[in-house]
This record gives sequence, structure tokens and C-alpha cells, in this order.
Amino acid sequence: MANITEDKKPAKVKARFLGTNSLVITDGPTTILVDPYFTRVDASTVFLKKIQPDPDRIKKALDDAELDQADAILITHAHFDHVLDLAHVARATGATVYGCESVANVCRGGDLPESQISVVNPKEPVVVGDFSIQFIPGIHLAFPWLLRLLLRPGRKITSPLRPPARSSAWAEGQVHALHFTHPSGTFFNQGSANWVEGSLKGYNADVALLGVGGLDLHKADYWDTWYKETAGYVNPKKIYWTHWDDFCQSLDEKPRYLRHVDDVLAHLTYKLKNAGGPPEEKMPWLEWIDVTGNE
Ligand SMILES: [Zn+2]
Repeated sequence: MANITEDKKPAKVKARFLGTNSLVITDGPTTILVDPYFTRVDASTVFLKKIQPDPDRIKKALDDAELDQADAILITHAHFDHVLDLAHVARATGATVYGCESVANVCRGGDLPESQISVVNPKEPVVVGDFSIQFIPGIHLAFPWLLRLLLRPGRKITSPLRPPARSSAWAEGQVHALHFTHPSGTFFNQGSANWVEGSLKGYNADVALLGVGGLDLHKADYWDTWYKETAGYVNPKKIYWTHWDDFCQSLDEKPRYLRHVDDVLAHLTYKLKNAGGPPEEKMPWLEWIDVTGNE
């Protein structure tokens, strides 16, 4: 396989969107996954019945994406739509999982060996091949009262979580945004739309992959402040929106927007056009895109 130092020129970094905040990122020699989730629990039962990973569904998604190997899986937080399938995907790809202690307990509950689990320290970047990844502590999208009651934000998973379990058992843990540095450029991913004022200062990136799931539960002032506190600091040349699809819908169906996220994107598109902001689009389904802004 081509080696970056032999080629002299840094390999281009490509990313591909598999729904929710599931991303495949590769420069050729190294492959990294973010928040892989394929089981897709139906909306009618997600808060009523116990849920568990669907091994057939996971295998099909990995086969469809031609993913039989990965070096690392990075997790932004421990909600089920980000980690339910984690132990299965790590086992199938041989990847090491990086995330907070709650993520580690999801892995342990799925019988993943400790050698494949790494709890991150936000003060130290994670190095995988030619990638250096900074986990930046953040907070989860603010929920309206009913979801707050169900999910009780701020909770952690303090012991191995063995499915099946109620979806609310997948507590968010510590939320992180991800800042990637690679010889060919920088890029940024945030899986849940909220902000800690000023915390992204200094994290410039060529491309930003921003999760918009749940923004429709808020009003325009939340959207605008969130944008200012994320893209405003990251200052990307291009933005791709992730987490825009309905994550309760089967992957066999054509993806549709999560509730009214299309209204949020229409607002942001209009605003950015008028303000001379960077080009943006919803991250295309399964297509490879360049995430270092060199194209
Ligand atoms: Zn979440």
C-alpha cells in the first residue's frame, strides 16, 4: 500500500457519510470511523421497548460500505444513535475505540477486549497513522423538557452496559467535538449541536462537518448562536451538515430529513449566503468528499 512518506506529497483525506453522524475517513493507509450506527431502531418503539444491536443489519452496512478493516473508531458521545453498534463494528474491523469512560463501558458491555478500548484525555491528542485528533469537551444539544426527563442530560454510563436495555440507558457521557490535523489539511466534526462559549477558539479547520440533529427543537436564535460558536471559530472554507437524516428510519429506505431539520438548513443557507459565509451543503449520502479543502 502507498506510504505517505514515500509519496512525499500528503495523501488526500476523503470522508464518506453513512447517516446520523457516522463517518468513514481515510487517507489510504489509515481508516478512521466516527460514531458508526446502522441498526436504526424504529421510532414507534425506541422509548417503549428495550433495544439492542442488529448483527445482520450491521454486517450489511459494513459490506455495503466495503469496510472490513479500520484503525480507529472515534466517538463523540454515548447516546444509542452513536454507539449502539460500537462493539460489533470494532470487532468486525479490528479498530481501537476512542471516547470517554461511558463509551468504554458500552464497549465492555459488548465484550470488546480492553486492548481495543482507549479512554481519551482531552489534553493529549490521539495519534492514528498520520492523523492527530484532538477531543474537545463540549455539551449535548439542549433538549426540551420531555426528552430531558427521559434522557436526563449529563448522566454517565458507570458500569458495562449490556444490551438489550432501554434506549435511555445509553447516557450521553462526556460530549466531545473532534479536531483532525493531517499533513494534507485540517477538519472538524461536531456530533451534537451545542456550545461552550469560546471553547473552539484556535481550532481552525479547512472543512467542518457539523451535526444538525435536533436543532429543529429550537428557534433561530439558538441556531445563530450555535453557528457563531462553532463555525464562527473553526472558520472553515466549506461546511457539510451531518446528522440531518431520520436515524429511526431503516437504512433500506431512501434517507429523509429528521423531523424539520430542513427548515433549519434553509435558514442557515439563507443567512450564510447573505453574510458571504462559506459554501455549505448537507453531507451527501455515501459519496466520498475531500475534507481538507484541496478540491
Ligand atoms: Zn446525542
